[in-house]
Amino acid sequence: MVENIVIIGSGPAGYTAAIYAARANLKPLMFLGFQSGGIPGGQLMTTTEVENFPGFPEGIHGPQLMANMNAQAIRWGAEVVTEDVINVDFQQQPFVIRSDHRVVYAHAVIIATGATAKRMGLPGEETYWNRGMSACAICDGAAPIFRGAELAIVGGGDTAAEEAIFLTKYARHIHMLVRRGELRASKAMQERVLKNPKITVHWHTVPIAVTGDGNLLNGIQIQNTLTHQHSGMAVQGLFYAIGHTPNTSLFQGQLHLDEMGYIRTQSHSVATNVPGVFAAGDVQDHEYRQAITAAGTGCMAALLAERWLSEHGLIQEFPTDNSGTPIPEILPENKEPPTVHGSSGLNSEPVVDLTATRHHGGYALRKLYHDSDRLIMVKYSSPTCGPCHALKPILNRVVDEFEKQIHYVEIDIEVDGEIAEAAGIVGTPTIQFFKHKDRVAELKGVKQKSHYRDIIQQYL
Ligand code: NDP
Repeated sequence: MVENIVIIGSGPAGYTAAIYAARANLKPLMFLGFQSGGIPGGQLMTTTEVENFPGFPEGIHGPQLMANMNAQAIRWGAEVVTEDVINVDFQQQPFVIRSDHRVVYAHAVIIATGATAKRMGLPGEETYWNRGMSACAICDGAAPIFRGAELAIVGGGDTAAEEAIFLTKYARHIHMLVRRGELRASKAMQERVLKNPKITVHWHTVPIAVTGDGNLLNGIQIQNTLTHQHSGMAVQGLFYAIGHTPNTSLFQGQLHLDEMGYIRTQSHSVATNVPGVFAAGDVQDHEYRQAITAAGTGCMAALLAERWLSEHGLIQEFPTDNSGTPIPEILPENKEPPTVHGSSGLNSEPVVDLTATRHHGGYALRKLYHDSDRLIMVKYSSPTCGPCHALKPILNRVVDEFEKQIHYVEIDIEVDGEIAEAAGIVGTPTIQFFKHKDRVAELKGVKQKSHYRDIIQQYL
């Protein structure tokens, strides 16, 4: 079978293309991505409030906006798979798109793979990555090691400004390292940063190395870009916010890219140099890079793809009645596990049902740790962490498979800070496995189902 349209990527560009193509009865197949190029949902999954997306006068949380787009695309008949595309062939028609699990043929392709946060590769970075260093303050800022700490953030753009302000919620003080004598951030964000007493901007300053005690970062070396003088700064965290690189390695040799690696599209269009292949969002835009411009180009890509299919007589229609219940892949509220501890009455301890599989909170974890023989899988997350939302449906499916054989406990590190500290959590999501009071395994970030399943089977 040959698909009408395959969409690669799941940020605002990919989802808008999917909504338009699905509403045109084209039943697009969407590769949401898994790990390469960031998490499903794209960069908005690692942001807080989005205040400039039209239609949300009070602002909207980034992961929620993406969950809404996901639900809307599915409602209109888009098919979604949470897999990375590993290889494409645009030299033949129909085009070939491969993931680890399938080979798909398509008459048209829309590329919306976005961009990935840049890292500096400083001396010490490999040792202290996720041990005080991060490229996502929004995901990791609530970790216990950063609470009440002095932190540094590199960059002078809107991301650095937004993240510096976010980090002031937890940290004692933020040092913003800016390589020039001015910020690139918008005037409104500049004002918020410069007025904030918990943020010091260090002009003409870059980090050149990170130092630590072998386990956690405890300082950085900085350099003045004018005088080239070096000095030390005692901080417990360093966050990168220095922009992004387009996710185009898949398309090298297949499509024309510019000197920075962005896909070249035709003027006033999103058509690439290969007829039938279109590119939308940040993967082809280094100028505007906004959620709304990404969504706009996603719409253009779907309209052009439909026109192209129609001109070549390739359209197969799949009418939908859009009456089905949407099953969002990343909707945070979707499949919320039931709370199994409650209260047995006034002034009494919460009740933890040792026969139940799913639990919430530090009290349940302590009780299970001491009283249960089952393998305990603990998910540490924070409410603002987009990857934690992306992991939720993956873990829900794994937990369903091992119902009554394991305990699964969700810990919100903002609520149960002490537990997170005792567990040594330095970023979210982190999954730890306990058996007979021993910690037997730990997985950080979002992994494929099989990673969690393999550990469970090993320790059941
Ligand atoms: P930007 O490219 O805008 O900014 C990157 C910043 O990092 C710049 O200040 C840059 O310095 C600095 N930088 C880059 N490389 C280095 C390096 N090697 N060493 C030190 N500093 C470095 O990226 P952003 O991620 O901030 O923003 C991307 C886009 O997303 C923008 O269009 C922005 O407006 C948008 N955005 C909007 C938000 C909102 O509206 N709420 C929130 C976040 C982002 P220099 O200035 O010298 O180049």
